[in-house]
Amino acid sequence: MATDDWPIESDGSNTLVIFGASGDLTRRKLVPALCSLFCKGSLPENLGILGVARSDLNDQQYRAMLRDSLDEEIARPTPEQWADFSSRVHYLHGDITSSDDLLQVRSKLLDMETGDRATNRLYYLSLAPSLYQPAIAVLGETGMADDTEGWRRLVVEKPFGTDLASARSLNEIAHSVFREDQVFRIDHYLGKETVQNLLVFRFANAIFEPIWNRNYIDHVQITVAETLKIDERGEYYDQTGVLRDMFQNHLLQLLTLVAMEPPHAFEAEALRNEKVKVLSAIRRIHPEDVALHAIPGQYRTYRDEGGVAPESDTATYAAVRLYVDNWRWQGVPFYLRSGKALRSKSTEIIIQFRNPPHMLFPLDEDEDIPANTLAIFVQPDEGFHLEFQTKTPEAGLQMRKAELEFHYHEAFSGQAIPDAYERLLLDALNGDASLFTRADEIEQAWSIVDPIIAGFGRPDAPRPYYYSEGSWGPVEADRFMSTDGRAWLQGGRAR
Ligand code: NDP
Repeated sequence: MATDDWPIESDGSNTLVIFGASGDLTRRKLVPALCSLFCKGSLPENLGILGVARSDLNDQQYRAMLRDSLDEEIARPTPEQWADFSSRVHYLHGDITSSDDLLQVRSKLLDMETGDRATNRLYYLSLAPSLYQPAIAVLGETGMADDTEGWRRLVVEKPFGTDLASARSLNEIAHSVFREDQVFRIDHYLGKETVQNLLVFRFANAIFEPIWNRNYIDHVQITVAETLKIDERGEYYDQTGVLRDMFQNHLLQLLTLVAMEPPHAFEAEALRNEKVKVLSAIRRIHPEDVALHAIPGQYRTYRDEGGVAPESDTATYAAVRLYVDNWRWQGVPFYLRSGKALRSKSTEIIIQFRNPPHMLFPLDEDEDIPANTLAIFVQPDEGFHLEFQTKTPEAGLQMRKAELEFHYHEAFSGQAIPDAYERLLLDALNGDASLFTRADEIEQAWSIVDPIIAGFGRPDAPRPYYYSEGSWGPVEADRFMSTDGRAWLQGGRAR
């Protein structure tokens, strides 16, 4: 049965089952996003929410816990709205690895499901990644994936696997229970408005696409910088590192949106086909060559963090140069970097254009005019800056930089940018997989990152370079760029 056969608007029931209902993600993101959607009237009238975790709570206690942790930046319900919203939220304690407990969940769902039409269910795995496989297996064993009465969809949080082999094995398990069109793998970056706006910017305007290629673009920089350290997650992070945590998913997703060919339609398969083509075209870095293409870094106090091995070489920062070997991008480097404990929290994409082929205006001997840059701010302060040269009045032919700017908060003042999870939850409920990652996409991404991780682990590879907290990463990453005759840019400007 196609997932569209049972629409969300049906007279039957739609239930979102959150496994891991008492966890951080559910409390900080999922429930506030659902509450915000509810207050805007965007959720279907007949949606029920069932939270499942092992903690022994009743409905009232669970609702009170959710209210206490509601993030008011995402949702600000009135008391009446909260009462109405929370009356749709139920809780059942159970262990996802136990068939008996899942049978209890199934009978609770049967109690909640009303009407004589479809009984649609969205299962959301907001669980530790080690529980994804057992959870999917038990959903299969207990018949909960059976979609004869209504659609069944599965949302799987990130990370999806820890390398190519584990991602493949998770895909196999998922496909043994659900069809691919029922599986929604989350990368919450894709739910961000600016990320989607990148597609509109590229493909709803005629002026950028003709210059969006190797003839006009010198290089691309993608930065995902975090100010936070690893907090309490030392043990997890020490096994993970920045390449698994940020590159395999967010950075490569941003790269695909910058580099992809125009899809023939804004529809899941067309979009994802183009993204997979970009990932397949990325030149793989051999582990023995990793030092030529990537710089690992570690913030100075990382080894003092709880749960981190005293001699740990886990990278908390990395800068990587990738090439997309296709007609459009041949020879254009994509510089990707991400790190913890950096100076500011920001996600941005810089498109650095080439210099004009011939400079007809007189320049001083040591003068160089900066090339045009387009800065795309994904967060915070979502927007775009396009830099170009203008003439300074009454100063001969002296030039200076000017900027065209667009910022969401100015353009849509008073209108809060919805949290990424609002969009993703609604899309999953509506069966639109455009902003979710397909099985082959995940596997391609791992096949790019795995050899770099292997390279960082080689005895002859450089140990991570230290950097101070609050800096922009190790100086070696600056040297890496300057060796290429380039510099890292912030907001389109050299820092
Ligand atoms: P938490 O550890 O905070 O929550 C885990 C949840 O799983 C708890 O509700 C826990 O409740 C429940 N749980 C644990 N074991 C079982 C079990 N055997 N059966 C049923 N429930 C169980 O994790 P997070 O919420 O932080 O993360 C969840 C997922 O989301 C992870 O995969 C993470 O990588 C991903 N993620 C999280 C983000 C975040 O900001 N937190 C951001 C992006 C992704 P109990 O102990 O009561 O059973």
